Amino acid sequence: MLNGEKKIARPFRWAMIGGGRLSQVGYKHRTGALRDNTAFTLVAGAFDIDAERGKEFGVNLGVNENRCYPDYKTMFAEEAKREDGIEVVSIATPNGTHYEICKAALEAGLHVICEKPLFFTSEEGEEIKELAERKGKIVGVTYGFSGNQMLLQMRAMIQQGKIGDIRMVELQYTHGFSANDAADKTSDAQKWRVDPKVAGPSFVLGDLSTHTYYMSQLIMPQMKIKKLLCDRQSFVGSRAPLEDNAYVLMHYENGAVGRLWTSSINAGCMDGHRIRIVGSKGSLEWWDNKGGELRYEVQGEPAQTLIRAMPYLDDSCNADERLGALHVEGLSDSWANIYLKFAIAMDAKNRNDEETLKNLVYPDINAGLDGIRWIENCVRSADNGSTWVEFEHEKAAL
Ligand code: NAD
Repeated sequence: MLNGEKKIARPFRWAMIGGGRLSQVGYKHRTGALRDNTAFTLVAGAFDIDAERGKEFGVNLGVNENRCYPDYKTMFAEEAKREDGIEVVSIATPNGTHYEICKAALEAGLHVICEKPLFFTSEEGEEIKELAERKGKIVGVTYGFSGNQMLLQMRAMIQQGKIGDIRMVELQYTHGFSANDAADKTSDAQKWRVDPKVAGPSFVLGDLSTHTYYMSQLIMPQMKIKKLLCDRQSFVGSRAPLEDNAYVLMHYENGAVGRLWTSSINAGCMDGHRIRIVGSKGSLEWWDNKGGELRYEVQGEPAQTLIRAMPYLDDSCNADERLGALHVEGLSDSWANIYLKFAIAMDAKNRNDEETLKNLVYPDINAGLDGIRWIENCVRSADNGSTWVEFEHEKAAL
């Protein structure tokens, strides 16, 4: 069980780009990164597109005034001059800026933690992957839900054959908060999400389903999609060509089939993030809203609800437990788990500790790149008249 004791020699000197006062996701980064006080220390930032607001905000977070910068380029240049300059940067800005900032950060010799969806194209992803390798740096991707330890329990149980051979995969990440276009006109965070120049080639496929796709791969690393069919719609017409609803059918290489529904117009739905894996003997089901529980159903036997922090769970699951039984865990714990693994990865990279890196399960550059490929394959299928397309795991030329 985690208790906040240090896992690495000293915390990384950490900065944020974006994630300012009005941002949706910024605080999740800080609660995740700073939870233990032993992995990261926030020492600098270019927190906001509005330099003045960003500075005032950074000072209110306790960051030295002189290290609250007007933009990321100034931050990289100034911090490079300091002996105690930043070592890691988190990018929590709208999608269209990720590639450029990530590249600049790696070139400045920094480890990077970047928001999803990572970039617009897998070519950009391959380039950044190569650059990170060349620079000896880690790129982590904040698939923040994926640090929930019950997902590791699912992974362990599937590996142990508890549900038999996987036959069906049911994935859902939906909500109803964009059921109409009101926020498209009034919320800055929603405006860019439906603008292809900033959001990229998708809305909900990138905004929501990249999380669930990564989580499914975390749970079932052996399952590769062979082909998929994506059918996407813009029910609020002004969002076209970006979708606010999509269905994806998947065929896996082992013969299993899958179905993913992602939507921001599931009116009335507050949180529809579910994963159900059906095997030849039984099924496992997890629902974000009851994230500390796992439903385990074996055909012909009474169904069980496995509860977090209990000794009957797999060691890999309980190793990421933070509270112990009888206490309610939240999303920040998932984020904290991800952030801690980013720090362990970066520390291992700095020490050329390939053994640690090999055994560490966390959303790395490959996971981010895979998320881009997921969107590309879905968009290719949808734009091809919703036809089956072979799942391209890599571009042939690369
Ligand atoms: P937002 O519009 O609410 O906030 C963006 C923030 O970035 C603002 O503070 C803005 O001032 C700042 N900003 C914009 N451009 C900047 C620049 N060039 N330099 C410095 N600051 C800049 O957006 P959001 O909803 O917080 O989303 C940001 C990113 O996080 C997106 O990529 C989104 O997909 C992702 N996101 C991820 C999760 C998750 O669970 N991992 C949740 C929400 C959003």
